[in-house]
Amino acid sequence: MLRTDVPPATIDPLALPDCGGHFGPYGGVFVPETLMTALEDLTAAYLEARADPAFQSDLARHLAEFAGRPTGLYFARGLTEHCGGAKIYLKREDTLHTGAHKINNALGQALLAVRMGKKRVIAETGAGQHGVATAAVCAKFGLKCVVYMGAVDMERQSLNVFRMRLMGAEVRGVEAGQKTLKEAINEAMRDWVTNVRETHYILGSALGSHPYPMMVRDFHRCIGLETRAQILEREGRLPDEMVACAGGGSNAIGFFHAFLPDRSVRLVGVEAGGRGIRLGDHAARFEGGRLGILQGCKTFILQNADGQIELTHSVSAGLDYAAIGPEHAYYRDLGRIEFAYACDDEVLETFQLCSRLEGIIPALESTHGLVYALKRAREMRPDQILVVNLSGRGDKDVQQVEAMLRRA
Ligand SMILES: *Cc1c(COP(=O)(O)O)cnc(C)c1O
Repeated sequence: MLRTDVPPATIDPLALPDCGGHFGPYGGVFVPETLMTALEDLTAAYLEARADPAFQSDLARHLAEFAGRPTGLYFARGLTEHCGGAKIYLKREDTLHTGAHKINNALGQALLAVRMGKKRVIAETGAGQHGVATAAVCAKFGLKCVVYMGAVDMERQSLNVFRMRLMGAEVRGVEAGQKTLKEAINEAMRDWVTNVRETHYILGSALGSHPYPMMVRDFHRCIGLETRAQILEREGRLPDEMVACAGGGSNAIGFFHAFLPDRSVRLVGVEAGGRGIRLGDHAARFEGGRLGILQGCKTFILQNADGQIELTHSVSAGLDYAAIGPEHAYYRDLGRIEFAYACDDEVLETFQLCSRLEGIIPALESTHGLVYALKRAREMRPDQILVVNLSGRGDKDVQQVEAMLRRA
């Protein structure tokens, strides 16, 4: 439930994190000594760029011309009539170049890398979406690009590997451990330690050590700022509720951020419930996770009794990670952002429903938000407004869904 004992004045969306990167007890810097200077330099360079109107106007121009901003705010008539409750709007991040919101952050960080004089970029990727966005911006700015990807993910997402290579990126397979995202991040951090002078690490979500959670959030803030202006123009008022899926949490925090001071707007993040809430079968960090440190960041983490990182599962690779961004953990404690989860089977059903009723094939990640939103819309009145962030398009997922439906 929304707590009302926190006065609105305590929420200044740009006041956090503090200079050490803390969101209350979460966030901070937990990296090897060899990376401390790199993170301090990056923080200084980013804060300077953030305050520089030339950087901001450059970024705005590239977001418009290369990425395709602003994205639309679309009234989903089919889904609204199907539910018979609140008006459902979709924020169309799925229409962006390379297929998801990730290009907002990749563009911002690539511009920053150029500003810092870095010639080489590294990134990690799970499903390949962040890798593709990074490969695209590196091609655009003439930066050398190396993407680390687990060997298992490379096999599952071979088309995205091909896309990255087409755009000139070198994709390095990681054979350690589970051969997925977590190991790819470890390998990227190892590369960064070795090549930090000429290399910028474009991290793909609102995670990791300071300044990444702040910087990635800032680069996605445009989602919420646009939504605010668009809904005011369309409806003359703010929405009653906003919903976004949460992997690391970057699309969600970008969507929510401009609305944090508006206590009348309920904000809900939707995690991956996978096959159900049993350890190892899901990636819903707020369902059984607890405070810990993973890959530079103190936050909510799925771990066993000994603090070993738990295996996770989700039908959508983009939500399949054991940690959530520290800012989400902080606002959940305050009761300002609430969390729910959606399971694989509901996601498969809603993926088809949205495609059929709207002519929009949503990413499996984004569909988690839709599952929850459709349930909520039914409970709300027709004069109420619910906005869902459609973080990406489902073209990347159609083969996987076809195979799953054939087996079902
Ligand atoms: C990567 C991805 C996500 C999850 O990442 P966040 O940082 O939680 O936004 C969600 N949706 C899509 C389409 C993605 O590609």
